[in-house]
Amino acid sequence: LINKGYFIKVIEDLAQMIEEKRDYLSGLDSDIGDGDHGINLSIGFREVMKNLGDWKEKDLTFLFKKMGMALLGKVGGSAGPLYGSFFMKFAEQAGGKESVSFVEFYNMFKAGIEAIEMRGKAVVGEKTMVDALRPGLDEFTKSMAEGAALKKAFERFVDAARQGSEATIPLIAKKGRAMRLGERAIGHLDPGAASAVLMLEIFYNNL
Ligand code: ADP
Ligand code: MG
Ligand code: MG
Repeated sequence: LINKGYFIKVIEDLAQMIEEKRDYLSGLDSDIGDGDHGINLSIGFREVMKNLGDWKEKDLTFLFKKMGMALLGKVGGSAGPLYGSFFMKFAEQAGGKESVSFVEFYNMFKAGIEAIEMRGKAVVGEKTMVDALRPGLDEFTKSMAEGAALKKAFERFVDAARQGSEATIPLIAKKGRAMRLGERAIGHLDPGAASAVLMLEIFYNNL
């Protein structure tokens, strides 16, 4: 079972990572967007950390729903609402409990990533966070079917997401602000794909 202590540590580490990588992520966004990706996430996660003390007394569904609402409500731009939708669906799959099984944990990521795809309507190859998350999820699904242990399955998830993220470098963007750059987006890593991998690494490192 994956318990509440794990998830709380993950949220704290996510917030710390976002502060450390804020300028890096905004820098990636300066190359092909409006330069605020790190700032957007920092605003969202500071709001989360302000409230985590209250939220963490409750179950995982309550906790992640609040977190999703904070990201949806406080963060302008695309990534806040996309990650917000992720955590809202992530929350639902926790079934109001304080710990989840391996399969439930998998279902949380599956529902979260599908929510991002539904909201943003992006598919692989359009130079967005979906380029990291979709191949990552597919590899996670495959690992589960093959009976891999949790840590190994999640390692494959993160590795596939990292590869997908790096594969955004040569692409022209078909979604988001980078669209208007046309061929000038070529040669740049997508900031949302980069932040998605950094977040998954934190889930992995705490397993
Ligand atoms: P904004 O572009 O509004 O300033 P951010 O800079 O915070 O928002 O986030 C930009 C990232 O959001 C992009 O790098 C991309 O990964 C992601 N993104 C943008 N539009 C979409 C979309 N329709 N679907 C999925 N991801 C998207
Ligand atoms: Mg931006
Ligand atoms: Mg913006």
